[in-house]
Amino acid sequence: MAELPRACSDELGAVEFLERQRWGDSPACPRCGATDVYQMQGRDGKRNKRFLWDCRDCGDQYTVRIGTVFEDSRIPLRHWCYAFWAACASKKGVSALQIKRQTRLSYKSALFLMHRIRFAMTPDRSPRLDGTVEVDETYVGGKPRNPSIQAIRAMSYEERKPWRQERAEFAFRWNHRKVDDGARTVAAIRGAEGKRLYYRDPRGVPSNDPTGGFGLCSV
Ligand SMILES: [Zn+2]
Repeated sequence: MAELPRACSDELGAVEFLERQRWGDSPACPRCGATDVYQMQGRDGKRNKRFLWDCRDCGDQYTVRIGTVFEDSRIPLRHWCYAFWAACASKKGVSALQIKRQTRLSYKSALFLMHRIRFAMTPDRSPRLDGTVEVDETYVGGKPRNPSIQAIRAMSYEERKPWRQERAEFAFRWNHRKVDDGARTVAAIRGAEGKRLYYRDPRGVPSNDPTGGFGLCSV
């Protein structure tokens, strides 16, 4: 996966990498699905500074962020690429502090990235672990114990939230343990699509948290 280092350091590289992962050779309008689309250009003939696309069919303008976990964030996509890669390349995941150090984002932004990446790693249904899972007690860090899936199910929604997200991340890495870091990163990034976050949790989770636990806010 030779493109990843560039995608993590250069914004255009990141945009093009994510576009390729999302659309392959046939970029399509996320609003109407038409493929009669083109990259907008600036006066200098280079790509538009916001990396906008224009759809000739519905007239909509969009970027690769639309309809993904990146949508309502202003964090540069190269930092997203780095965080996805770091979360996928390490056996135990990556901490928000590491993301902060590497990207020089604020801790709050780094935490936001990590929550979204875990969300991208969450299967559309509840996390499923294939085969026998050997849970490493240390991956949950300072938490007192590592509850079983049954124990998590018995918890209230509020109690369960952090565990479910960590489970999802752990399950993702386990289910993709046989591929290399690059392929695992691509799989995680593909999970970012269709994971646009809603103010009201589509599953109708009753909660005082309007983000349904996924921290929807612009950073
Ligand atoms: Zn369109």
